[in-house]
Amino acid sequence: MDIVKHNMGWIEVIVGPMFSGKSEELIRRLRRAEIARQRVQIFKPAIDERYSATEIVSHSGLGIRSDNISKASEILEKIDPRTEVIGIDEGQFLGEPLVEEATKLANMGKRVIIAGLDTDYLGRPFVPMPTLLAIAEEITKLLAICMRCGNPAVHTQRLVASEDLIVVGAGGMYEARCRRCFDANLAHEKSMQSESKQTPAQRLAARSTGS
Ligand SMILES: [Zn+2]
Repeated sequence: MDIVKHNMGWIEVIVGPMFSGKSEELIRRLRRAEIARQRVQIFKPAIDERYSATEIVSHSGLGIRSDNISKASEILEKIDPRTEVIGIDEGQFLGEPLVEEATKLANMGKRVIIAGLDTDYLGRPFVPMPTLLAIAEEITKLLAICMRCGNPAVHTQRLVASEDLIVVGAGGMYEARCRRCFDANLAHEKSMQSESKQTPAQRLAARSTGS
Protein backbone atom coordinates (compact mmCIF):
# COMPACT_ATOMS: atom_id res chain seq x y z
CA MET A 1 0.00 0.00 0.00
CA ASP A 2 2.94 2.35 0.68
CA ILE A 3 4.23 2.11 -2.89
CA VAL A 4 0.91 3.08 -4.48
CA LYS A 5 -0.05 5.53 -1.71
CA HIS A 6 -0.32 8.53 -3.96
CA ASN A 7 -2.78 7.11 -6.42
CA MET A 8 -4.84 4.72 -4.32
CA GLY A 9 -7.46 5.63 -1.79
CA TRP A 10 -8.99 3.44 0.86
CA ILE A 11 -11.62 3.30 3.61
CA GLU A 12 -10.97 2.95 7.34
CA VAL A 13 -13.89 2.39 9.72
CA ILE A 14 -13.87 2.94 13.49
CA VAL A 15 -16.86 1.46 15.33
CA GLY A 16 -17.94 0.77 18.89
CA PRO A 17 -20.56 1.87 21.42
CA MET A 18 -20.81 5.35 22.90
CA PHE A 19 -17.98 6.19 25.33
CA SER A 20 -15.52 3.89 23.52
CA GLY A 21 -13.38 6.77 22.19
CA LYS A 22 -14.33 6.62 18.48
CA SER A 23 -14.15 10.38 17.94
CA GLU A 24 -10.86 10.55 19.83
CA GLU A 25 -9.41 7.84 17.60
CA LEU A 26 -10.69 9.65 14.49
CA ILE A 27 -9.17 12.93 15.68
CA ARG A 28 -5.87 11.18 16.51
CA ARG A 29 -5.58 9.80 12.96
CA LEU A 30 -6.52 13.16 11.40
CA ARG A 31 -3.95 14.98 13.51
CA ARG A 32 -1.21 12.53 12.44
CA ALA A 33 -2.11 13.33 8.82
CA GLU A 34 -2.04 17.09 9.50
CA ILE A 35 1.39 16.76 11.11
CA ALA A 36 2.56 15.07 7.90
CA ARG A 37 1.21 18.16 6.05
CA GLN A 38 -1.54 16.23 4.31
CA ARG A 39 -4.70 18.14 3.47
CA VAL A 40 -7.50 17.06 5.78
CA GLN A 41 -11.25 17.74 5.71
CA ILE A 42 -13.70 16.66 8.39
CA PHE A 43 -17.45 16.22 8.12
CA LYS A 44 -20.10 15.67 10.75
CA PRO A 45 -23.89 15.28 10.41
CA ALA A 46 -25.66 18.47 11.49
CA ILE A 47 -27.94 16.35 13.67
CA ASP A 48 -25.14 16.00 16.20
CA GLU A 49 -24.89 19.46 17.74
CA ARG A 50 -24.24 18.34 21.27
CA TYR A 51 -21.17 20.37 21.97
CA SER A 52 -20.19 22.63 19.09
CA ALA A 53 -21.56 23.59 15.71
CA THR A 54 -18.24 23.68 13.87
CA GLU A 55 -16.03 21.15 15.61
CA ILE A 56 -15.99 17.43 16.11
CA VAL A 57 -15.73 17.19 19.84
CA SER A 58 -15.37 13.90 21.61
CA HIS A 59 -16.62 13.44 25.16
CA SER A 60 -13.16 14.29 26.49
CA GLY A 61 -13.39 17.76 24.94
CA LEU A 62 -10.63 17.25 22.36
CA GLY A 63 -11.75 19.22 19.30
CA ILE A 64 -10.91 19.62 15.62
CA ARG A 65 -12.61 21.88 13.02
CA SER A 66 -15.34 20.27 10.93
CA ASP A 67 -17.99 20.99 8.28
CA ASN A 68 -21.60 20.24 9.16
CA ILE A 69 -23.57 18.33 6.54
CA SER A 70 -27.18 17.21 6.46
CA LYS A 71 -26.73 14.39 3.95
CA ALA A 72 -23.92 12.19 2.66
CA SER A 73 -23.91 13.67 -0.88
CA GLU A 74 -22.81 17.04 0.54
CA ILE A 75 -19.36 15.59 1.21
CA LEU A 76 -18.58 15.38 -2.51
CA GLU A 77 -19.97 18.90 -3.06
CA LYS A 78 -17.80 20.37 -0.30
CA ILE A 79 -14.62 18.47 -1.00
CA ASP A 80 -11.53 20.37 -2.07
CA PRO A 81 -9.85 18.44 -4.93
CA ARG A 82 -6.53 18.76 -3.12
CA THR A 83 -7.84 17.08 0.05
CA GLU A 84 -6.04 13.82 0.75
CA VAL A 85 -7.67 12.64 3.98
CA ILE A 86 -11.39 12.83 4.76
CA GLY A 87 -12.73 12.24 8.26
CA ILE A 88 -16.43 11.56 8.87
CA ASP A 89 -17.81 11.39 12.40
CA GLU A 90 -21.14 9.87 13.54
CA GLY A 91 -21.44 8.00 10.22
CA GLN A 92 -24.54 6.13 11.45
CA PHE A 93 -26.57 9.34 11.06
CA LEU A 94 -25.84 9.62 7.32
CA GLY A 95 -27.67 6.47 6.25
CA GLU A 96 -27.11 4.07 3.35
CA PRO A 97 -25.99 6.80 0.82
CA LEU A 98 -22.76 7.14 2.82
CA VAL A 99 -21.61 3.79 1.40
CA GLU A 100 -21.70 5.07 -2.19
CA GLU A 101 -20.12 8.43 -1.26
CA ALA A 102 -17.27 6.78 0.67
CA THR A 103 -16.65 4.40 -2.25
CA LYS A 104 -16.50 7.30 -4.73
CA LEU A 105 -14.04 9.21 -2.53
CA ALA A 106 -11.78 6.17 -2.07
CA ASN A 107 -11.88 5.53 -5.84
CA MET A 108 -10.79 9.14 -6.35
CA GLY A 109 -7.64 8.32 -4.34
CA LYS A 110 -8.73 9.73 -0.98
CA ARG A 111 -8.11 8.15 2.40
CA VAL A 112 -11.55 8.04 4.01
CA ILE A 113 -11.87 7.51 7.77
CA ILE A 114 -15.38 6.97 9.13
CA ALA A 115 -16.32 6.69 12.81
CA GLY A 116 -19.76 5.57 14.00
CA LEU A 117 -21.95 3.41 16.20
CA ASP A 118 -22.16 -0.15 14.89
CA THR A 119 -25.29 -0.99 16.89
CA ASP A 120 -28.37 1.01 17.86
CA TYR A 121 -30.15 1.30 21.24
CA LEU A 122 -31.74 -2.13 20.73
CA GLY A 123 -28.41 -3.77 19.90
CA ARG A 124 -29.26 -4.09 16.19
CA PRO A 125 -26.69 -3.37 13.44
CA PHE A 126 -26.92 0.37 12.71
CA VAL A 127 -27.22 1.15 8.95
CA PRO A 128 -24.92 1.98 7.13
CA MET A 129 -22.06 0.89 9.41
CA PRO A 130 -22.33 -2.89 8.75
CA THR A 131 -21.96 -2.32 4.98
CA LEU A 132 -19.05 0.06 5.52
CA LEU A 133 -17.34 -2.58 7.68
CA ALA A 134 -17.70 -5.03 4.80
CA ILE A 135 -16.18 -2.78 2.13
CA ALA A 136 -13.44 -1.12 4.23
CA GLU A 137 -9.73 -1.87 3.88
CA GLU A 138 -9.22 -1.48 7.62
CA ILE A 139 -11.60 -1.75 10.56
CA THR A 140 -11.17 -0.91 14.23
CA LYS A 141 -13.73 -2.01 16.80
CA LEU A 142 -13.37 -0.20 20.09
CA LEU A 143 -14.89 -1.29 23.39
CA ALA A 144 -16.05 0.86 26.25
CA ILE A 145 -16.18 -0.23 29.89
CA CYS A 146 -19.52 -1.35 31.29
CA MET A 147 -20.69 1.39 33.64
CA ARG A 148 -22.43 -1.23 35.78
CA CYS A 149 -19.88 -3.99 36.24
CA GLY A 150 -16.61 -2.91 34.62
CA ASN A 151 -16.51 -5.64 31.95
CA PRO A 152 -15.79 -4.84 28.28
CA ALA A 153 -18.84 -3.06 26.84
CA VAL A 154 -20.10 -3.39 23.25
CA HIS A 155 -23.56 -1.89 23.79
CA THR A 156 -25.06 1.58 24.05
CA GLN A 157 -27.75 1.49 26.72
CA ARG A 158 -30.47 4.13 26.39
CA LEU A 159 -31.66 5.24 29.81
CA VAL A 160 -34.50 7.55 28.76
CA ALA A 161 -37.95 6.68 27.49
CA SER A 162 -37.96 6.84 23.71
CA GLU A 163 -38.41 4.42 20.85
CA ASP A 164 -37.00 6.78 18.21
CA LEU A 165 -33.94 5.37 16.46
CA ILE A 166 -32.05 8.63 16.90
CA VAL A 167 -32.07 10.46 20.22
CA VAL A 168 -28.95 12.60 20.39
CA GLY A 169 -27.50 13.05 23.82
CA ALA A 170 -24.67 12.14 26.11
CA GLY A 171 -24.50 12.71 29.86
CA GLY A 172 -27.20 10.77 31.68
CA MET A 173 -29.12 9.59 28.59
CA TYR A 174 -26.85 6.73 27.59
CA GLU A 175 -24.46 4.30 29.24
CA ALA A 176 -21.94 1.81 27.90
CA ARG A 177 -23.00 -1.69 28.91
CA CYS A 178 -21.56 -5.19 28.53
CA ARG A 179 -23.45 -8.06 26.94
CA ARG A 180 -24.80 -9.18 30.32
CA CYS A 181 -25.91 -5.79 31.69
CA PHE A 182 -27.40 -4.49 28.41
CA ASP A 183 -31.21 -4.38 28.46
CA ALA A 184 -32.71 -3.77 25.04
CA ASN A 185 -36.20 -3.46 26.55
CA LEU A 186 -35.36 -0.70 29.02
CA ALA A 187 -36.14 2.28 26.76
CA HIS A 188 -39.29 0.49 25.59
CA GLU A 189 -40.48 -0.31 29.13
CA LYS A 190 -39.82 3.23 30.26
CA SER A 191 -41.83 4.68 27.41
CA MET A 192 -44.67 2.27 28.24
CA GLN A 193 -44.60 3.42 31.88
CA SER A 194 -44.59 7.06 30.90
CA GLU A 195 -47.57 6.44 28.64
CA SER A 196 -50.51 6.37 30.99
CA LYS A 197 -52.74 6.31 27.94
CA GLN A 198 -52.39 2.54 27.62
CA THR A 199 -55.51 0.74 26.50
CA PRO A 200 -57.05 -1.79 28.93
CA ALA A 201 -56.07 -4.58 26.50
CA GLN A 202 -52.41 -3.48 26.55
CA ARG A 203 -52.45 -3.33 30.34
CA LEU A 204 -53.91 -6.82 30.49
CA ALA A 205 -51.28 -8.13 28.08
CA ALA A 206 -48.49 -6.59 30.15
CA ARG A 207 -49.90 -8.15 33.33
CA SER A 208 -50.31 -11.61 31.83
CA THR A 209 -46.64 -11.67 30.75
CA GLY A 210 -45.68 -10.74 34.30
CA SER A 211 -44.06 -7.41 33.43
ZN1 LIG B 1 -21.80 -5.18 32.71
